[in-house]
Amino acid sequence: MAATAPTVSLSLDEVHALAAGCLAANGCDAENARAVADTITAAERDICLSHGLFRLPGYVASLRSGKANGRAQPVVEDLAPGVVRVDGKGGFAPLALEAGRAPLAAKARSQGVAALALNDIHHFAALWPEVEALAEQGLCAFAFTAAFPYVVAAGGRTPIYGTNPMAFAWPRPGRAPLVFDQASSALARGEIMIAAREGHAVPPGTGIDAEGRETTDPNAILDGGAQLPFGGYKGASIALMIELLVGALIGDRFSFEALAVDNHDGGPPKGGELMLAIDPARFGDPENFAAHAELLFGRITAEEGVRLPGDRRRRNREVTAVDGVQVDSALHAKVVELAGG
Ligand code: NDP
Repeated sequence: MAATAPTVSLSLDEVHALAAGCLAANGCDAENARAVADTITAAERDICLSHGLFRLPGYVASLRSGKANGRAQPVVEDLAPGVVRVDGKGGFAPLALEAGRAPLAAKARSQGVAALALNDIHHFAALWPEVEALAEQGLCAFAFTAAFPYVVAAGGRTPIYGTNPMAFAWPRPGRAPLVFDQASSALARGEIMIAAREGHAVPPGTGIDAEGRETTDPNAILDGGAQLPFGGYKGASIALMIELLVGALIGDRFSFEALAVDNHDGGPPKGGELMLAIDPARFGDPENFAAHAELLFGRITAEEGVRLPGDRRRRNREVTAVDGVQVDSALHAKVVELAGG
């Protein structure tokens, strides 16, 4: 049996204090440190470890290199009756998202549909927190962001698209929203890096080597190769759509443009994010839409072995609220060191 890596047991409050303290010690003001720590703690709480404390070294690298502005004060701008923009001023995404949330929700309620464009941010997190927050207010929500170019176009061998995630949330009055959040690559980049570190193969369809041949060797994908989109050309088209929405549409960077201006500090790219919010109360079935959706969810989950997206996270949430989380000891030591402790 494989040895289990040693861990440190922390409560969620301790995770938050550790993250906020580390960010503050490296140049974040209190509000930015708190907002990023909220996101990191939410990921640990839901056991989405690739977006929890694991991300702190990357955040710190971008603070120390000067790429990210830890004291950014996002500026909200009204662009149209249904469009609000937040200029993130080169900061991390969480505070800019907070600044845009209330105006986006207000516009969705007044117009039925509204968009939030976030510019000049560094997104280093999962997208589910931002869509979930809007669905908890009774709105449907979508979020899209790009990354660095890691993924090929259909039939190509040159990385051009980011791992471009999209997330969707559906409000369920009286219960937690339905949420899915997925990258448009076949496998998350972090999973390929972990496979390389641990010396095991990745599933077929994950990537190609430098010669354009499909491979299950994670090192061949990472060293001169490229990732494949999920579902072949269908996933590639979703990655393409996301590049257009968060690059050309909102006046920010494509993934390859983000790489061109990056300082390679290991932190997040400089780019944008698009969110859409829809108020179901402004469409054709305001009294019944929620119950109608529950009918579908009930049919789906009636089948043995089938669950709704987001259920894993919510189950984890119940456990970690009581038991706290187990943090890899090496990671914990690294974060303590980065915090100057
Ligand atoms: P996964 O493939 O792990 O999961 C994708 C979605 O599918 C989740 O909503 C998950 O729900 C759901 N799901 C998984 N298994 C099932 C199942 N059996 N039945 C129903 N639903 C299921 O995620 P990815 O690897 O694609 O993405 C990982 C994260 O990386 C995302 O949060 C994404 O936002 C983030 N990311 C961020 C980037 C950035 O630049 N900021 C870039 C790329 C990715 P559940 O959570 O409940 O398992």
